[in-house]
Amino acid sequence: MAHDILTAVRGLVEEAADILQLTPTEVARLVNPERIIEVSIRLRMDDGSEQVVQGYRSQHSSLLGPYKGGIRFHPDVTREEVMALSLLMSLKCAIAGIPFGGGKGGVRINPKSLSRAELERLSRAYIRAIAPSIGERVDIPAPDVNTNGLIMAWMREEYEGIVGHASPSIVTGKPVERGGSLGREEATGRGGLIIMQELFHKLEKKRTPQSITVAVQGFGNVGYHFARLAEAAGYTLVAVSDSKGGVSVPKGLSVASTMQCKREKGSVSGCYCKGSVCDVRLGKPVDNTALLELPVDVLVPAALENVITKQNAGRIKAKYIIELANGAITDDAYPILEKNGIVVVPGILSNAGGVVVSYFEWAQGLQGYYWSLDEVNMRLKETLHIAFGQLWDVHTTHTISIAKAAYVAAISRIIAGMRVG
Ligand code: NAD
Repeated sequence: MAHDILTAVRGLVEEAADILQLTPTEVARLVNPERIIEVSIRLRMDDGSEQVVQGYRSQHSSLLGPYKGGIRFHPDVTREEVMALSLLMSLKCAIAGIPFGGGKGGVRINPKSLSRAELERLSRAYIRAIAPSIGERVDIPAPDVNTNGLIMAWMREEYEGIVGHASPSIVTGKPVERGGSLGREEATGRGGLIIMQELFHKLEKKRTPQSITVAVQGFGNVGYHFARLAEAAGYTLVAVSDSKGGVSVPKGLSVASTMQCKREKGSVSGCYCKGSVCDVRLGKPVDNTALLELPVDVLVPAALENVITKQNAGRIKAKYIIELANGAITDDAYPILEKNGIVVVPGILSNAGGVVVSYFEWAQGLQGYYWSLDEVNMRLKETLHIAFGQLWDVHTTHTISIAKAAYVAAISRIIAGMRVG
């Protein structure tokens, strides 16, 4: 599986490289990370025993700035996976026009099997292991799968203990109380909405947001904030789901009541039902496979990777896909979606809001000067507006799909950097 991610991402890059007629050396520089750090971490368990776990940090490109990217704790983490994800981060930073190259780290462990004290020791040990290779102007980690603001606060503290001075920008995604940025938590969902609005400004000028139906898979950080903000902007949310299933409400659901119901029942499936019977006039349960195939205007995968594949791509009925989960669409699904006229904005742009506000957090930490929420949101909107405009220019100049144009726009930026000098 991990090897597949690397092959898939490299495949998308090589396709864009053909359009740009890059040289073999340029392609080799694009698909290979500059450096991969592999560490063995000794983890002391609460019962006094010791485990040795593997950790990685892939530093893909330092051409446009320091390396930037998350750290995941997951039993399936591999060297190939972090390589693929660091390449995607380089593309994401390039298309967003922020001065970073891609990085990605991971530890091969199931964090859910650890106590809080073990998790803290693991987080601190990982940072000690990679400390010689990172820095506020070298490589700046952030949260990813199974890591969060608290873990970033531990990592900052551990790193500062090693270097002996304050380094607030050594990691981003920190809690606001520990040097984080206002607006970071909802930035990925907000960015997804901004990109959807940019797209409809070009392609759906005559339609009102109310007439546009949206289904969201995943009701976590990204999916919930996207759904909440899209509803507030007037769009009609007709389905949402979490890992236990979803609910479909053709007339439109209330995101706030659905979240309240999820908190009470533990899942969104079964919300809009009376007792054990679902009233179809209100809504009905929908499983995660069926949600993807609903006849909606916009489908937003915001949960997992590899959910739209060549197996189900032919059954997708949405006109647009705003990919918020990294790698939700596999490379072999793209040609099918394109053939069926489905417009896809890939995650390298539609979920870039998170890394853009991470960039703002990094800049605020270096300045020691923190911005208001309005300023963060205004700059996020401006950054993504410019990025979308450049994507649109590539889409129209090369007459290629928006999905391919995203990769071409990102790679053009990196290549322009390579060709200087
Ligand atoms: P999260 O853990 O907060 O939420 C994930 C959601 O997906 C939860 O609602 C969970 O119930 C649901 N889910 C899990 N398994 C599912 C399944 N089989 N079917 C349907 N739903 C399922 O995670 P998140 O931070 O919202 O991240 C979601 C995706 O967005 C990930 O791919 C992540 O890499 C990507 N992403 C996140 C950020 C960010 O800033 N958080 C930035 C860029 C990309």
